[in-house]
Amino acid sequence: MRDKTQVTIEVKDLVKTFGSFKALDGVDLKVDSGELVALLGPSGSGKTTLLRIVAGLDWPDAGEVLINGEDALAQGARERHVGFVFQHYALFRHMSVFENVAFGLRVQPRAIRKDEAAIRARVKELLDLVQLDWLSDRYPSQLSGGQRQRIALARALAIEPRILLLDEPFGALDAKVRKELRRWLRSLHHEINVTSIFVTHDQEEALEVANRVVVMDKGRIEQVGSPDDVYESPASAFVHGFIGESIELPVQVEGGVVRLGDRPLALAAGGAAPGASKLFVRRHDMLVGPPGSGAFEGAVQHVRNFGPVQRAEIVLSGGKTIEIDAPRDKELRVGETVGLEPRRYRIFAG
Ligand code: ADP
Ligand code: MG
Repeated sequence: MRDKTQVTIEVKDLVKTFGSFKALDGVDLKVDSGELVALLGPSGSGKTTLLRIVAGLDWPDAGEVLINGEDALAQGARERHVGFVFQHYALFRHMSVFENVAFGLRVQPRAIRKDEAAIRARVKELLDLVQLDWLSDRYPSQLSGGQRQRIALARALAIEPRILLLDEPFGALDAKVRKELRRWLRSLHHEINVTSIFVTHDQEEALEVANRVVVMDKGRIEQVGSPDDVYESPASAFVHGFIGESIELPVQVEGGVVRLGDRPLALAAGGAAPGASKLFVRRHDMLVGPPGSGAFEGAVQHVRNFGPVQRAEIVLSGGKTIEIDAPRDKELRVGETVGLEPRRYRIFAG
């Protein structure tokens, strides 16, 4: 089962337009052998377009796609030996689970097709791998959504693809099942080690599943890094705003002074460039203290418990409303004035 073959993917300066619209605007990316990379970005950022081009389902206007250093754009989808799982890649309704998984093996060219006994053994192995051997005689309509996607994955793996591409495979499932499947996918990938690209618009899913995250926006890559990198050291305002829940305040930087409206803040500008900027603070990094204790002051407007924290709506002096997350045992009263000090913050131009 374990794939020992080395497979790398390299994409260079990829451009794809639809009419006058640039869906991909100069994308460079390297995926190492055996990696599970997440493409993370909002809807419309170009994730599916990039995946389809790697798969051989679409072609770019310019740029290169190399698989193991070879020009993949000269090859069709079949020659690239890619397995896919899509959000709505429906299984064949009239075929049993077993036959769905066997399908790719049965339609292989005669020269390489396995005999019936070998096909049955391989399907059994795949159904064991996705832990659904017991469903082999069922039909797709008799499966849950999560089971269907696991079968779709088994089907994609049947032909021993060199690359596995997953486009929002859990997007149509409810939150609890999604969470289970993400953990399941991570451990499955650990077992099979196929070079994989996983597309999602869900930041939590990307951070939990992948060993590297590629953040996309408007057809461009904003940042590539480990889950810790993109969360702890976002490279741009977009990444900070997209990953992790952030407070975002429009500020002015002038001569090393950061102002919110006409009020100077007791915050170091660091290396921030002068001009209109955005200050970002994660909700849980804004610490609440007595009035006068921090860079900001505000009045508590509303408090509610939100899982392990309490989320408070605070109107800053100057009129801007922010939401912060404080520990549950912190006493917060509606109407009281508090001081707020960001434990960490970042300033980005723009
Ligand atoms: P994502 O998967 O990140 O949501 P897509 O790659 O599907 O984004 O799409 C990127 C942009 O390209 C979107 O604005 C989409 O409307 C546009 N687009 C994608 N495919 C086509 C197409 N076949 N024709 C016209 N526009 C398209
Ligand atoms: Mg998409």
